[in-house]
Amino acid sequence: MQLVLASGNKGKLREFQAMSKVPIVPFGEVMTPFEIVEDGETFAANALIKARAIYERLGSGHIVIADDSGISVPALGGEPGIYSARYAGAGASDKENLYKLIDGLKNAGLEHTPAHYTAAIAIVSEWGEYVVHGWMYGDATAEARGDKGFGYDPMFIPEGYEWTLGELEDAVKKELSHRSKALALAVPIIEMLG
Ligand code: IMP
Repeated sequence: MQLVLASGNKGKLREFQAMSKVPIVPFGEVMTPFEIVEDGETFAANALIKARAIYERLGSGHIVIADDSGISVPALGGEPGIYSARYAGAGASDKENLYKLIDGLKNAGLEHTPAHYTAAIAIVSEWGEYVVHGWMYGDATAEARGDKGFGYDPMFIPEGYEWTLGELEDAVKKELSHRSKALALAVPIIEMLG
């Protein structure tokens, strides 16, 4: 049974590998990477689209894992949500997306407002499909502070803290993060299937 991650992102691979006793290979190592259109309306739907697309090509004998994540600001109607990675347009950088959201808060007259990160992890194998979620709640603030983490971290203050994830140590984020929480649920499923 081979465990395949539907991502070429080295950071994600490291995070998954650190939590799993079973070796995980990125899908680029077992097939030629191909385009997957993520046109689902939820994080779960998009994670499933990715995992199914790769499982269909690999077939039984494989467990395919895919994730989808992003930040949502209820005061802005849930934006950017599933569009987090391409909020400032296709191919936008993390910085462009970050400042678009900061401008969105400023335009709405918000200095601070509740926000949350969501991570969905889909697991597809011959025994069926699973999706688990993890969330991290806090506040989005209309200024970027710190250079740790990535993406929207410089504008996100986790619940119970005064600093942004850009300022807090990586170990704090690991403890609190949406992805760690989803991973903690995914690992027993992966181990059971594997
Ligand atoms: P994905 O790779 O399709 O899941 O896209 C995730 C996008 O959501 C990233 O490009 C970031 O913009 C944002 N995002 C997800 N998780 C985090 C996080 O932990 N910190 C900061 N930004 C995140």
